[in-house]
Amino acid sequence: MATETIGAIDIVAWFVYLFSAVMFVVGLHYMNSPKTARKGNMISAFGMVVAVLMAFIVLFAKGFVSTVAVVILVVGIAIGAIAGVVSAKKVKMTDMPQLVSVFNTVGGGAAALVALNDILTKAETPDIVVLITAGLGVVIGSVTFTGSLVAAGKLQGLKFMRKLTLPAKGVWNVVFIALTLIAFVMLCVQPEQRLLWSVLATVFALCYGLVFVIPIGGADMPVVISVLNACTGTAVAMSGLAIDNVALIVAGALVGSAGVTLSILMAQAMNRPLLSVLAGGFGGGSSAAGDAEGPEGTMKETTADDVAVQLVYAEKVIFVPGFGLAQAQAQRELADLGELLKGHGVEVSYAIHPVAGRMPGHMNVLLAEANVPYEELVDLDDINPQFSSANVALVVGANDVTNPAARRPGTPVSGMPILDVDMAQNVVVMKRGRGKGYAGIENELYFKDNSQMLFGDAKAGLQTVIAAVKELIA
Ligand code: NDP
Repeated sequence: MATETIGAIDIVAWFVYLFSAVMFVVGLHYMNSPKTARKGNMISAFGMVVAVLMAFIVLFAKGFVSTVAVVILVVGIAIGAIAGVVSAKKVKMTDMPQLVSVFNTVGGGAAALVALNDILTKAETPDIVVLITAGLGVVIGSVTFTGSLVAAGKLQGLKFMRKLTLPAKGVWNVVFIALTLIAFVMLCVQPEQRLLWSVLATVFALCYGLVFVIPIGGADMPVVISVLNACTGTAVAMSGLAIDNVALIVAGALVGSAGVTLSILMAQAMNRPLLSVLAGGFGGGSSAAGDAEGPEGTMKETTADDVAVQLVYAEKVIFVPGFGLAQAQAQRELADLGELLKGHGVEVSYAIHPVAGRMPGHMNVLLAEANVPYEELVDLDDINPQFSSANVALVVGANDVTNPAARRPGTPVSGMPILDVDMAQNVVVMKRGRGKGYAGIENELYFKDNSQMLFGDAKAGLQTVIAAVKELIA
């Protein structure tokens, strides 16, 4: 093909990729609000479709692909598209965090493969810029691949994954970080040996991903998930730099910077230094801590009628939603109960813990979906001083984020800031039974003198409470 034609294709492709990148930014802007988030998603997806089509056109126009490669590409895209659509449609809202982790796995792995291909298939020795960017793409993408895979298994609650432990965990992290760095540096200084060094860097980085996430448990997963998210974006951006694709660079930079911001916010919210996450310096605390004798006190059961009386005669009620609310899909019932009480003159607010649920912002999304006014969602720092003046704290499917065990050392939730629910005058906890939270430990809150348990599914339980409240008000 004539050089001018190839040049013209490159220029058109550059503008099309830039257009896609603009679509990503505009889409992200619309995701600022739950009302426009769907539109934002569509705009970003459109940008991605355009970028993929352009990549195809470039491959064909430049005659880079054989017939066999075309078949492989089309079959690969078809399998990926079907798997993506089916999983996104079928997966329950409560399983979204696992799905996002699986997408991170795929994204990290793809970015690593693109970068690896760029290093290994060039006829001439790649220059230092390509070696650094592609090398980083390989390393970060590989860490993300195995790390996200383990994270997805843990979030799915796979028993063997959650039970996996690693003796001397911090040591393995340091060993594999050092080995990966050495292989990466050698790749840059000895490009003629790039096959050896890139393969070693990939293997060591894959191992680091495993040893990084395997020991993480309890309350520390949210920080790790945010870090892996940041890694996916960074790996994609690095691969984009290596192959000079502006759409990949912008998409990766957006995901990477959002992930970094989220990681910092999560680490602050969880009271964990971010650097110690990367070195695996936390995640400790025995699940059995405090379980040997069990918490002091006994659990007291209550009834929906009794809860309704407490709520109707209260002046101030704080709702404390957690993962069980999402599991039961009971957000609309909780919002209805809130409206009912507000109509009766009760002050109602929702206590939002930054890691309640299974993904960052889970409770905000859930309650926004149920049209709970944004000003009624109160952050941890602002709501905690209010618990002592609340007549009732109604805990719906929240466990770890309310566990006073976090205030003392030696447990998987130690150091994590919690909602001071135990300070409320009366606490009502709605959950199905005596199941533990994500961290796998008993909740001392449930055994306190001022706590009562209303056992049952959150949705059905709230419906019964709503009926009882309506009867009382009438
Ligand atoms: P938890 O996971 O600690 O507890 C949820 C509780 O909900 C369980 O004890 C369960 O008890 C109850 N439950 C489950 N299903 C229902 C139902 N249908 N109806 C009523 N209750 C139900 O939730 P929290 O929100 O308090 O804490 C979140 C935990 O997840 C933290 O440890 C956090 O670190 C971790 N995590 C958070 C992530 C994030 O980004 N937000 C990501 C990864 C982990 P029972 O079985 O008895 O009903």
